Amino acid sequence: MAIKYNQSQPESAVLLRQVIAEMGHHDAPFNPATFAVCYEVQAGINPRLTEAFEQAKRQRQRLSADDMAALYRDHVADADSDATESARGELQRVMRGVAESAASTGSTARAYGSQLAGLSQALGAGHATDDAQSLRPRLDAVASGTAQMQTVVAAFEQSLREGEREVERLRGALERARIEAVTDALSKLRNRKGFNDVLRETLSTRPPAGMAHCLAVFDLDHFKRVNDTHGHPVGDTVIETVGQVLTRVSSGSNAFAARIGGEEFAVVMPSTTQAQAVQLAESVRNLVRGMKIRKRGTQEVIATVTVSAGIAAWVPGDDAASLLSAADAALYRSKQSGRDRVTVA
Ligand code: GH3
Ligand code: MG
Ligand code: MG
Repeated sequence: MAIKYNQSQPESAVLLRQVIAEMGHHDAPFNPATFAVCYEVQAGINPRLTEAFEQAKRQRQRLSADDMAALYRDHVADADSDATESARGELQRVMRGVAESAASTGSTARAYGSQLAGLSQALGAGHATDDAQSLRPRLDAVASGTAQMQTVVAAFEQSLREGEREVERLRGALERARIEAVTDALSKLRNRKGFNDVLRETLSTRPPAGMAHCLAVFDLDHFKRVNDTHGHPVGDTVIETVGQVLTRVSSGSNAFAARIGGEEFAVVMPSTTQAQAVQLAESVRNLVRGMKIRKRGTQEVIATVTVSAGIAAWVPGDDAASLLSAADAALYRSKQSGRDRVTVA
């Protein structure tokens, strides 16, 4: 399921510091994958990642580059889309800027430290011949070192603030890329991957007594004919409109609609009753039946479509594949017995 970033600006600033501190506890390089892993762990927004991260830390306290890369690949990177890639590149740039500022602050601090040590030594030596005159050059050096330190620290703080703003923007870009990776562009529903994610997530919990996790699958009837008669673009419009029907029917409930194939759709209904699942599928069937395909320009109704559905309820021993094949078998029976109907497995 998509992860939501919802920290406010001050919270995210605190978080960023915690993330940088966490990164320092490991042997992995200071790169965007390490950052993303530590960020999501610190923010507590990705439970599977946190579990895997804690387990890896129990085995070996300091995680390596390979550990971080594996955690990133298995639990953070949902997509390898261009957007994710470019956001990663930019994140790398931001982190490099922050790291460079930190390094230059560190070297200025070291130089300043040695000036102070020199001054302290001179004062400690306390020879009778030492007078204010001989200490002056050292005092001047320390004064100018102080001024330099202040400038560098201010620049570092500025760079941290800019880094935070940039990270905020990049998190938005990554979040959009994640959503795109699980969304079907035509129907605006979840795509097959989004469906798999939601079904797996649903089946990882047990429904309360008297309820069941239900799955409905839908397939448009004689859709080839729609394409053959009216052309592919009209077929696409039908798929888009069915997407709107499914969005409407599943919104306001905890149902998740997806386009799982060309003209095949599914609705995952966690913790529901069979009667409610049938009711939802019947609403879809009726709304699709009522859709009117109009000719461009004249608005004349040129066709209507119907849809067949199959419903299965999770039973002990079922996994995603067996639940899906039970729903598919019920759908097949709807097709066999005349289409435009809902069958329960
Ligand atoms: P049935 O009632 O048995 O399901 O008949 P059908 O014609 O719908 O079944 P079939 O699976 O043979 O055909 C599905 C058709 O859906 C074939 C394909 O051209 C069309 N289709 C699949 N994806 C798309 C799409 O994205 N756009 C359009 N326009 N058509 C699509
Ligand atoms: Mg089909
Ligand atoms: Mg079909």
